[in-house]
Order: sequence, then structure tokens, then C-alpha cells
Amino acid sequence: MLKIEVAKDIGFCFGVDKAVQIAKDLLANGENVYVTGELIHNEAEMKVLEELGLKTFDIASKWPDLSRATVLIRAHGVPIDQLEKMKSHAKKVVDATCPVVLSLSESILEARKAGFEVLLYGHDKHDEVVFLKSVVRDLKVFDYKENVRYSTKKIALFSQTTMDVDGFKEMSKSIVENIEDLSTVMIKNSICNVTYQREREVKKLASENDVCLVVGSNKSSNTRKLFNIAKNINYKTYLVLSTADLRPEWFDAADSVGICSGTSTSMRIIDEIVERLRTFKN
Ligand code: SF4
Repeated sequence: MLKIEVAKDIGFCFGVDKAVQIAKDLLANGENVYVTGELIHNEAEMKVLEELGLKTFDIASKWPDLSRATVLIRAHGVPIDQLEKMKSHAKKVVDATCPVVLSLSESILEARKAGFEVLLYGHDKHDEVVFLKSVVRDLKVFDYKENVRYSTKKIALFSQTTMDVDGFKEMSKSIVENIEDLSTVMIKNSICNVTYQREREVKKLASENDVCLVVGSNKSSNTRKLFNIAKNINYKTYLVLSTADLRPEWFDAADSVGICSGTSTSMRIIDEIVERLRTFKN
């Protein structure tokens, strides 16, 4: 029989959970709800919300008529100027930007106002980073320590909330190694604690089980991160969106499987995967 170990911290994070719950409540209330892009980076979960009536629009393209719509801002946030424009176009705007992302936006603004050149370990095109760049317009974003550049002697380093801890450590070290070129350095670990805990847990699950499953979408940055970490530890690591992706042969020579998920995967999908795994090797 296959031993199934499920991560303790799994399913939606509180930021995504709150955004999904707000969307469901608005739809149940009969409102015409639009969201600024995918509410969550998970095709299976988005399908469920779309069936309830949720519509999406791309803020970079022509907007639909929003005069009778409620616009929901997703957990990553949207650029400040777009938010203001939306408030004047839509009947109502509901902001579900995650408090952790908002707190990071306040911290980088404070640092900029205090005269720091602000650097961010992150992915330049990620929606959260696009929002942060609207808060500090000259924010410098790097995803490899080799690319880090700054032009003053007073710098502050932050991280996108979903980046990996090891990469952030490397980037921090590379800055500290050049301390003689700097007068003031501030390093603030702004990685979301939820994603950090999942990183720790996936390392353990991947090393202690024959097979490791990371449940989530390839579109989700924190899911891809968990998958890459686990795959480096255990080559029998697989990324699955739903039960449709499970292959019985992955478990032929396995006695145990560890399961973790990105923050955009609901417990419904995890439960379905566990149920299906129980039918293997019986
Ligand atoms: S991963 Fe963290 S920062 Fe991102 S939405 Fe979830 S709780 Fe918020």
C-alpha cells in the first residue's frame, strides 16, 4: 500500500483564500463581477469561478464597459494609476490585494523616501512586481545576483513575496561582499512566511518520500518554485494540476509519496488527488 504524506501547510494561502471568498460572495449577491486578469493562477480553480459567473479582463488592453460592474482587484495588486482609473470607470471596486503585498509596498516606499536606492529580488514581469514598480517608479528588479547593479552608496534590498529564500540569501551575500563600496545597506526579508514554510516543507517531503507531487499550475510562480526545489532533491517529482495528470506508473516502484501545493490550489483538488492515489497499488 502506498504511504501518502500530505504537507501540513497546503491549499490556498490566506491571501488567495480571502480573494476567492470575496469573489464568491459578490457573485452570490448577484453582482456582475470582473477581475483584473486571473484571480488565481490555476486553470482548474478559475474554471469553477467562471462557471459561477466571474469574468476577467486584461488591464493592458481595451477595457469592457464597467459602468455596471464590480471590479475585484486580485491578491497581487494592480498599478496605482490603473486602480484610480478603474475607480472612475466601474460601479464599484473591491480591493483584495493581499496585506503582505501591501505591507511590502509600504516598506519600499518608506525606504525610497528615506533616500535609499531600492532593489528587489523578483521577476520583472510578475504582477506583484508591476504593482510595486508603480509605488516606487525607479525600483530596480533582479532575479540573479550576477545581474545586480546600483549607482549610489545607500541601498535597500527587498524580495518579491514569493521568491526563494536561497536565492535571496545569495543576493544579500553578493551585496554584503561589496560593502566597501557602500555607506548604508538595509536588507529586509520580505518573502511571505506562507511560501517560506512551504519551501521548508517541500524539501523534507521530497527527501523523505519516493515520489513527490507538487499540485498547482505552471503559471504560478510559487508553484514553479516549489517544483524546482523538490525536483533538485528528488528526480521523481511531478507537477500536477489535477487528478487528470496522475500516472499510475510513477508509483510502480514507490512505497511513499509526499504531496504539497502552491498557494493557488484549493483543498478540493488536494482531496481528489489523495482519493485517486488511494486507488493505486491496492
Ligand atoms: S503567497 Fe503570501 S503574499 Fe502571496 S497572496 Fe498568499 S499570503 Fe499573500
